[in-house]
Amino acid sequence: MGDRKTIEDRLVLLGTKGGPAIRPGGPSPTSSLLEIGGRRCVIDCGLGVTRGLVEAGVTLKELDLIFITHLHSDHILELGPLIHTAWTTGLKTPVTVFGPSGTAAYWTGFLASMRYDIDLRIADEGRPDPRDFVTVVEYGEGPLGLEGLEVSALRVKHPPVTECFALKFRTPDWCVVFSADTTYFPPLAGFASGCDVLVHEAMLADGVDKIVEITGNGERLRTHLMDSHTLAPDAARIASAAGAKQLVLNHLIPADLPGFDEKDWLAATRGHYAGPITIGRDGLTLTRSAQ
Ligand SMILES: [Zn+2]
Ligand SMILES: [Zn+2]
Repeated sequence: MGDRKTIEDRLVLLGTKGGPAIRPGGPSPTSSLLEIGGRRCVIDCGLGVTRGLVEAGVTLKELDLIFITHLHSDHILELGPLIHTAWTTGLKTPVTVFGPSGTAAYWTGFLASMRYDIDLRIADEGRPDPRDFVTVVEYGEGPLGLEGLEVSALRVKHPPVTECFALKFRTPDWCVVFSADTTYFPPLAGFASGCDVLVHEAMLADGVDKIVEITGNGERLRTHLMDSHTLAPDAARIASAAGAKQLVLNHLIPADLPGFDEKDWLAATRGHYAGPITIGRDGLTLTRSAQ
């Protein structure tokens, strides 16, 4: 877990687009790095998380805690490859993965799919067995029971997924809340009450119209998006009701559609939240001292 004294509190958005697709030069699906209270936390492991961590200056063999909000592929697809790459980089210290029900089965399945390579590297390169130092903890609502770092979970509304959790990380100095994927969910405001940073997923109504127009199964997609994700003004309303000191929009839909930019997001949230709003982009870094 590295030298705790040298880790400064910071949040780095590694992947900021909603959904699993990637496009040339575009942003990656969801993952974030939160360094808080001397611990290094990876929140969600969408495609690109490994590259994103390296670009953020993280030494992979110092991987410590990983949190998965839910099992949609844009949040978990690269979990196994991240740990495997860290292992081939020299990871020997314990890694704990907190995920909803089903995460342990994912990890077992990943190990099985890579058995040839893992067994070969243990025999050929003398590497430790990754099964020995990776622990998967399946969590539900409430405190996650971590020593030295307060992390708690709130079940949010992301149908048809029932096991999807907002996560709150708190030390005496800093409190950061991730909404996970959710439709407009007022109880989240109570959960995030008084936080320093609320990282909330967000969608633009005009962008949804455009996406529906250019995809084949448009209306069905619109129903899914509207039932399980949050429009930007509603994300701002949650931040306002929570009294969050800063709002970061993340898991953007649309993320890289031509014709939509930061102005549209700011226009959509105007008047709904008085604090500073940051529109997520890959690599964006917030430090506690800069707040
Ligand atoms: Zn998602
Ligand atoms: Zn999702």
